[in-house]
Amino acid sequence: MKNASKLWLASAVILGGMALSAWNMIEEKKGYNLENLDTEANPCTDFYEYAIGGWKKANPMPATDSRWGVFNVLSKQNQDHIEGILENLLKTKKAYPANSPEQQVRDFYLASLDSAARNARGIEPVKKYLEAIEMADSKEKLLKTIATWRPVGMGTFFSLYVDSDAKESGMNRLHLGQSGLHLPDRDYYLKEDSSSRMIRESYGQHLRTMFSYIDNPENVESAALDVIELEKQLAEISMSRTERRDPDKRYNKYSRQEFEAAFAGFDWKSYFELAQVPEWEDIIVEQVTYLKEAIALWNERPLKVWKAYYKWEVLSNNSGVLSLDIEASQFAFYSGVLRGTQEMKPFSERAVRKVNGNLGELVGELFVKQYFSEDSKKKVSQMVEEIREVFRDRIMNLTWMSDTTKEKAMEKLNAFTYKIGYPDKWRDYSTLNIKPKNLFENEEAIAEFTYKRMMDKLGKPVDKSEWGMTPQTVNAYYNASNNEIVFPAGILQPPFYDPNADDALNYGGIGGVIGHEFSHGFDDKGSKFDAVGNLNDWWTANDRNRFNKLTGMIVAQFDGFEVLPGIHINGSLTQGENIADLAGVTLAYHALEKHYGDHPPKGKGSDGFTWQQRFFLGWAQVWAQNITEKELRTRIITDPHSPGQYRVLGPLSNLQEFWNAFDCKDGSPMVQKDPEKRVVIW
Ligand SMILES: [Zn+2]
Repeated sequence: MKNASKLWLASAVILGGMALSAWNMIEEKKGYNLENLDTEANPCTDFYEYAIGGWKKANPMPATDSRWGVFNVLSKQNQDHIEGILENLLKTKKAYPANSPEQQVRDFYLASLDSAARNARGIEPVKKYLEAIEMADSKEKLLKTIATWRPVGMGTFFSLYVDSDAKESGMNRLHLGQSGLHLPDRDYYLKEDSSSRMIRESYGQHLRTMFSYIDNPENVESAALDVIELEKQLAEISMSRTERRDPDKRYNKYSRQEFEAAFAGFDWKSYFELAQVPEWEDIIVEQVTYLKEAIALWNERPLKVWKAYYKWEVLSNNSGVLSLDIEASQFAFYSGVLRGTQEMKPFSERAVRKVNGNLGELVGELFVKQYFSEDSKKKVSQMVEEIREVFRDRIMNLTWMSDTTKEKAMEKLNAFTYKIGYPDKWRDYSTLNIKPKNLFENEEAIAEFTYKRMMDKLGKPVDKSEWGMTPQTVNAYYNASNNEIVFPAGILQPPFYDPNADDALNYGGIGGVIGHEFSHGFDDKGSKFDAVGNLNDWWTANDRNRFNKLTGMIVAQFDGFEVLPGIHINGSLTQGENIADLAGVTLAYHALEKHYGDHPPKGKGSDGFTWQQRFFLGWAQVWAQNITEKELRTRIITDPHSPGQYRVLGPLSNLQEFWNAFDCKDGSPMVQKDPEKRVVIW
């Protein structure tokens, strides 16, 4: 069996055009890790359990987490690497030049490690904010106070940011959207089931705990009630997550004059000026009704209610940099009650995460120097082109799409660009001053630097070379405005991509991820953006209707999955990701088939699986995870991705290629043959 594998490997690689290196690879490449399997399970009944049941047992949930999967294991590994880098910077005791990445990262790390200083200061760093809120004796004054602090991260009932204009993707414009809730979704304030009611009660308790750090005991109760009541009113007027998926609904452009007339009742002139927003001509409002009604609330609700709300915002926003008891209280609610995490991560680990969270790109610059190989960039680029090729063929062969729309789809697919590993040019942080003491002031300096950097883009062309994730992130994304797919160095590691693993596993892993990101350009949202990244309908009406019918089937399929008694996946919220999973795994499978060409590996590998089986095991493997019930409940409401289990069960049950690979019989749970229910889109 081993010999046979060597043979096919050599021929496959020759066909791929890399003949020379092929002859050096004498050893058979790694197959599927058999310890991941649960051989008691039947792949045609529950492929997830079959493929990763063993992994789940061998990787129990740490007390410090609420979801523990392959993504987390890899993130933890990256983080350990980062800790090594940081510790080395401390050890070398070199006098790095001021504002060099090494100096900034090292000193921020030092400040993050100083728990004694944080405890000694208590709430002192935020006192000036709390006092200014207390001093404001009118809404006008309160508005000016909070506007002044926008650059250091003060939130309010709207978000204000600069981003590319969806209909003119090359230009940066001002955006304003709904915001201001401190629970993860509007549903938490509005739903009447017992779990939602329990969480609201705990939230009230948490607010009392937090206010007791900063207020007189006699004020605590009413402050907590005021916050809950106001946030509930904001929740009632908020647009749901599912509705927010529609980019057309979120695009409402106003000139400055139109804006100030349409949203009267709020001193916008002062707000923009004090928030240091440069001159602007147009603004895109994401939720028109919300904003109008929120301004009405601003005017109707008493000053004391808004004061309580902003005090809570100050405390909540800074809970991770004040004394450790405050951080622990915030953890108990947000990670404990909402997600089921039992323990905080050790302080040293939290310090590393703080550095990574605040200075991620600087850390990334140091990370890729040590932990990224240019070889993987080459191989992954090749896979991207192979998958694009398969996508082209499949679009051209679609029976539900007209030639007119196909032509436009080709235009878009051909225009996709991609980024792999890390940015070609690193961001310039040289004006950011970081000191080895005072975590609070350092975080504020970073917030201000980031805000100013964003505002400086206003009215200027979009820099398409920028990255939306740091290189060490274990993830990937599609950016509709740039029409690009991006794969950070962090995800180009085993088990997603392993240079020593068999091709089938890599195509099932990173190949599926590449296909997934490509197909985001053609999901319910992405399909509304054209080849240059503009929100612009390029579909004929008939084709759009047929597409909606197909996506409606995937919505229905996922609505049907019951993850906990009485709790179903929200098929509408998750449709974009489900479309991308189904398409991604299909594209990667056929790219692999094409990659093998006339010389596919014959028979079974040393792991006992055929290449087809190994491919699907490769896909299942990356979604391996354990999850707490609370985390699952929270994600069903907030996460546009389906739980890992259903990212395997859902797509594969629609795939003939999967049924054939495991010889699944009609009527098996993993075989969805009913033409009314089986979904094939791309
Ligand atoms: Zn996705």
